[in-house]
Amino acid sequence: MTADYAARLHTVLGRIRAAEQRFQRPPGAVRLLAVGKTQPAAAIAALAAAGQRDFGENYFQEALDKMTELATLELEWHFIGPIQANKTRGIAEHFAWVHSVDRLKIAERLSAQRPDHLPPLNVCLQVNIDREPTKHGLDEAELAEVAHAVATLPRLRLRGLMAIPAPAAAFAAQRRPFARLRKLRERLADTGLVLDTLSAGMSDDLEAAIAEGATLVRIGTALFGSRP
Ligand SMILES: *Cc1c(COP(=O)(O)O)cnc(C)c1O
Repeated sequence: MTADYAARLHTVLGRIRAAEQRFQRPPGAVRLLAVGKTQPAAAIAALAAAGQRDFGENYFQEALDKMTELATLELEWHFIGPIQANKTRGIAEHFAWVHSVDRLKIAERLSAQRPDHLPPLNVCLQVNIDREPTKHGLDEAELAEVAHAVATLPRLRLRGLMAIPAPAAAFAAQRRPFARLRKLRERLADTGLVLDTLSAGMSDDLEAAIAEGATLVRIGTALFGSRP
């Protein structure tokens, strides 16, 4: 089993490096987040044994169970799923990053509940980049105001933007929403808010995301196989 994970990790890292080269990104500009939702702790342990350190989870209780089981490994945990207000304390206590902040109220709770002995919680604001009515994420119109408010919260460190575009098959179509995300970051920089992270790209579109400036790709299926 471990050999499979090592091989898939090697393949995904190869795709990332190739895309960095092809799109003139500096080597190492893109960080790999392994998304382990619905995968057993043993699968995460196997990927960790192959050298992976950053892991993303969507469901708080499932994540907590795996963290407890894997506590002896030095892993960095990222929360990437929808956030219910009654889960913010647990998330603030157990994660290093949260990618899916989509309301000011949730950010305020995370900041208030981040324990003092931990460094500030790294956060990204999730943007509803394709304006899908059923999707989570901030509208572009409200982004700047929320971003400036979140940037002032004492126990958070606003790192960037995250998006999950609607699936598209063609490369050019995949690039479009990521290009809009990059523009949004540029516009925030024009207002004095410089962010170092674009959390964008999954198994099927990581090259398009890297072409448009992704600094972190969130990969599940290509690392773990299809979800049980
Ligand atoms: C599941 C998930 C991923 C990984 O998707 P794959 O297509 O399996 O790589 C990335 N980001 C988020 C927010 C997810 O929920």
